[in-house]
Amino acid sequence: MNLIFLGPPGAGKGTQAKRLQDRFGIVQISTGDMLRAEVAAGSEVGLQAKAVMEAGQLVSDDILVRMLGNRITRPDCAAGFILDGFPRTEPQAVALDDMLLSRGLRLDAVLELRVDAAALVERIGGRFTCAKCGAGYHDSFKRPAADGTCDVCGGHEFTRRADDKRETVAARLDAYERQTAPIVPHYAKLGLLHAVDGMAEMDAVTAEIMAVLDNLPSTASV
Ligand code: ADP
Ligand code: ADP
Ligand code: ZN
Repeated sequence: MNLIFLGPPGAGKGTQAKRLQDRFGIVQISTGDMLRAEVAAGSEVGLQAKAVMEAGQLVSDDILVRMLGNRITRPDCAAGFILDGFPRTEPQAVALDDMLLSRGLRLDAVLELRVDAAALVERIGGRFTCAKCGAGYHDSFKRPAADGTCDVCGGHEFTRRADDKRETVAARLDAYERQTAPIVPHYAKLGLLHAVDGMAEMDAVTAEIMAVLDNLPSTASV
C-alpha cells in the first residue's frame, strides 16, 4: 500500500504516518526528517538546505526529487510507503507520478489532513521529539507518561525543531498555501484524494484514516 499524507505544518502527518507504519509494516518517508539528518551530518545537501528550512521556505525541487527517488528504490519500500512531507509543489507531484509509473508502482490513497490555522500554530508551538527514537510529543496534547522520559524508548533527551519558532511558522503556513495547497486538486482529479478531519483527537483521526483505508478497493489492501 502506497500512501501520501498532505497537510499544512503541524497538521499531524508525522503522528499519523508513524501509527500506520507500525500497524501495516510500511515505511514512513519523512522528507523533513531526511533533510534534518542531512543538516545534522553537515553534508552538501544539508549545507544548502539549512538556511532555507530555518527561514520556513521550501528546499529546491531538484534536491527533493533526487532524494525521494533514491529513497523509494530502497528494499524496505517494497511492501509499501507513506510519504510524509512530499510532494510539496506541483513539479514534485509531477516528478512523483513519473517515478511511480516508471517503476510500475501506484498510489492507493492521498490523505489530506485538514486543520485550521490557529490550531496549527498551537500544535507547532508545543511540539517536541525524543532525541533517541524520534517519538513525537506535545506540551499540552501528548506529554510522556512520566515527565522527562520517552514512553517508547525510555530516553531522557528531547529536541525542538529550529523552525518551530513562532517567527518562522507564518512563513511555513504561507509556503503551504502558496506552493502545496495547489497540488490537492491534482490528486482529486486522479480520484485518490480523501479529506480527513485533522482537528479531532489523535485517536479519532487514526480511526477516520483506518475507515478510509478499509474502504479502498480490495486490490489496495496489504
Ligand atoms: P506534522 O508532521 O503534520 O507537522 P506532527 O505529527 O508533528 O505534525 O504534529 C504536530 C504536533 O501536534 C505534535 O506535537 C503532535 O504531538 C501534535 N498533534 C498531532 N496530532 C494531534 C491532534 N490530533 N490533536 C492534538 N495535537 C496533535
Ligand atoms: P512539517 O512537519 O512542518 O510539515 P517537515 O518536517 O515536513 O515540516 O519539513 C520541514 C522543512 O523541510 C520544510 O519547511 C522545508 O523547508 C523542508 N522540506 C521538507 N520536505 C520538503 C519538500 N518535499 N520540498 C521542499 N522542502 C521540503
Ligand atoms: Zn524515545
